[in-house]
Amino acid sequence: MPATNLSITKPLWKKLIKELKKRGKGIRESGAFLLGNSLKKEVTEFICYDELDPNSLDTGIIVFDGDGYIPLWKICREKGLQVLADVHTHPGNWTGQSGPDKKHPMIAQAGHLALIVPHLATKRGQLLNNIGIHEYLGDKQWRTWETVSGKFIITDK
Ligand SMILES: [Zn+2]
Repeated sequence: MPATNLSITKPLWKKLIKELKKRGKGIRESGAFLLGNSLKKEVTEFICYDELDPNSLDTGIIVFDGDGYIPLWKICREKGLQVLADVHTHPGNWTGQSGPDKKHPMIAQAGHLALIVPHLATKRGQLLNNIGIHEYLGDKQWRTWETVSGKFIITDK
């Protein structure tokens, strides 16, 4: 498998964490799609789940309606970007995948990364420490990466 490391700049990562925290209000999960040019492997923007599906956070765990992909694909098409990864939060320090997380990849494409941020993204200075990095291998199979592997990296701007 090719080493397809994804990168994101620190300012954008911080902005992302801030949004996840704000939308989760410390009481519910929130999430976002990370977009960028798939050749450059750099995340250049993100779009939160509840911007695409306003009800996606209502139950406390993320339930993303299939219709939410329509505006997502439109944005990608218009901007010439691809979905490189997704991220969502979990309460507490557990960053493993739930049954539904494993069963329903947000993008069912091999190589897609699903990141999980602990403590509903409410911790100060949340970088890649303690986050879960799960790579979809296709056919409902996943591989969990150690953060130190550099599968997903934050660059200083
Ligand atoms: Zn989850």
